[in-house]
This record gives sequence, structure tokens and C-alpha cells, in this order.
Amino acid sequence: MTESIETKVVHAGFGTDPTTGAVVPPIHLATTYAQNSPASPVGDFEYSRSGNPTRQVLENALAELEGGRHGFAFASGLAAEDVVLRTLPSDARIVIPHDAYGGTFRLVARVHAEHGLGFSAVDLGDPRAVEDSITDGVSMVWCESPTNPTLATVDIAAVAGAAHAVGALLVVDNTFATPVLQQPLALGADVVVHSSTKYLGGHSDVVGGAVVVNDDALADKIRFLQNAAGAVPAPFDCWLVLRGIRTLAIRVERQQENARAIAAALEANPNVSKVLYPGFGGMVSFLHAGGEAAAVAACQRTRLFTLAESLGAVESLIEHPALMTHASVAGTTNEVDPSLVRLSCGIEAVADLIADLEQALT
Ligand SMILES: *Cc1c(COP(=O)(O)O)cnc(C)c1O
Repeated sequence: MTESIETKVVHAGFGTDPTTGAVVPPIHLATTYAQNSPASPVGDFEYSRSGNPTRQVLENALAELEGGRHGFAFASGLAAEDVVLRTLPSDARIVIPHDAYGGTFRLVARVHAEHGLGFSAVDLGDPRAVEDSITDGVSMVWCESPTNPTLATVDIAAVAGAAHAVGALLVVDNTFATPVLQQPLALGADVVVHSSTKYLGGHSDVVGGAVVVNDDALADKIRFLQNAAGAVPAPFDCWLVLRGIRTLAIRVERQQENARAIAAALEANPNVSKVLYPGFGGMVSFLHAGGEAAAVAACQRTRLFTLAESLGAVESLIEHPALMTHASVAGTTNEVDPSLVRLSCGIEAVADLIADLEQALT
């Protein structure tokens, strides 16, 4: 398809139901499918962990949006990441960002490293660090851009080049940018992962994950692990993510517009010592000039921004990464500044959001 992303999000994965004419896909709850003779199913499906028609619509949509050949849906973002890591030999060496999402760091450092995986946590925004760390023997480089929670950006094409030069795969967690703003496969990445709990779902009502790849052999491994380890999403959850995707472009457009205005207002606020905004997307972080206690207090004073973990939904959220989303990395290389506050900008009227932050920051 050559349509723009705004069109793709509305149509990806599904046209019209051929039997009923329904314009949205049905939710197929059946766990098992009839067979004509042993091992010869009537249709394309046998058992709903291995494959489900509602999930397949979502998986096709995910592949289309990321410009990849194969899409896979999972029960959570971390389940998706776990399967990507399981494609490696257990004693492989990988490079992860020094400011990776806390759950990703925990999955690598406390689950896979326990089984022999070696890793180094590196600033992938620093070309020197990229050159020094992505060396022979590294089989996977894990990248987030923008990063969480400091919203630094990484030159994905450059990191892809460094990874491929040593025979490593590049994985990009595209949760923050979404395929509306960035399509990593086109920049040279081999694997895209998502927490579809965030922007793809977009309404704080479904936990899910996604993997998209181009390579057929890698897709076979992921399909095998999706079925063999079994962390699949329920059909209703697939339907909710798909429903969210239909408005992804318009939500991200509004969230980005709001985030830009909020970043500018924070720049002018004397209680803010630093604004971290990459210039695109709906996430804004800032350092409170008053330190940790003042940052924590501000998080408790907002009325429209709800104090909660997660991000990417229609409602605005505020959180304190050091005590909340990134508590698991305290005392590690990935530790977060305690005066940092992270905002997920929703689709409300921006003047109301700015007024809310200004009263909270006084
Ligand atoms: C939330 C998140 C994850 C984990 O996804 P879950 O759906 O919570 O399992 C991974 N990466 C990023 C960047 C996230 O924000």
C-alpha cells in the first residue's frame, strides 16, 4: 500500500467481513476449530493459542503500520520483549540503553541474565559509546528512541549500521514514537517491539504487546515461541488494540500539539530547571528546580493530570519515574534523577492542561 499512515491506521488489517458485510472485525471467541480429518482443519485455524482470526487482523495491521512483513501480538509489551530475547542463545551478549524502560532493564538483568545472557547498558545517543560497545560477539542491540523517561533520541540508522557491522540484530522499542512518527524498519532496524498498552491502545483499557519483523526465518522463530511459550492476547484485547489503532494518527497529532505547547510553557516556568522534549511526540519530562520533594509534591497537586504509571492514552498523566515506573532500576546504571517528572499529554484542551501544571508548580 502506498497510502499515508493516517489512512493506513483506519483501514489496516481489515476490509469488510465477507460473510456479513460488517465494517469492523468480529471477536472470535472459539478456542478450537473443526477439522475435516486429523490434522486437516476446515479453515486456517486449529487452536486459539496458535492462531485466532481476531488476533490475525491485529497482527496484519501491526505489520502494515510498521512496514514489515510479519506482525505478532502478545499479552503485554514485556511478553513481546521476552520472546524477542528468547530467539537468542542463552549465553548471547546484548547491548541495551543505559536509560531503558525499567521493565525492559529488569527483564534483561533479572530474568535473562540469570540464565546466562550477558549485557551492557550504554548511552546509544553517544557515537563513541556505540562504537566502543557494539563489538564482535554482540548479537543484539536494543534501542528506544525517544528514551524513557529522559526522552533522548537515538540515530537509529547509525546504530543499525553499527549493529549490522558486527552481525547483530537491532531491536527498536517504538512504543513512544509510534509508527505515525517513526518507522524503525525503514531506518534499518530488524525488529520493532511495542507496548500496545500505550499509544496503540490509547485508552488505558488494554494491556498488550507487539513484534514486527521482515525476515522470514526470524518470523518463524517468533511464531514458534509465541505458540510454544503461549503469552498470547485474548481476542477481546486484540479487538480493543485494533479499535485504538483506528484513531492513532489523530490522537498522536493532538497529543504532539499539546506536548509542544506544554514544553514551551514549562520552559518559561521558574520552578522548572530543565525541560526534556525531543521536539516530537506526546511525552514531556522536566526537572523540578526544587528537587525530589518538590517534584513529588507537584505530582500530587495536579487535577487534570492523573498521578499514574503508563502513558499514551487520551487522558493526561503525570508520574515520578524514580519512585514509580523506574523504581526497579534504583542503584543501577539506569537510575533516574529524583527531581524528574514525566508527563503523558492527552487530548484535552491545552490551555486547561497548562493551567493545571502552573497551579501545581507554584
Ligand atoms: C510500558 C512499556 C513497556 C512494557 O509494556 P507492558 O505492556 O507494560 O508490558 C515496554 N517499553 C516501553 C517503552 C514501555 O513504555
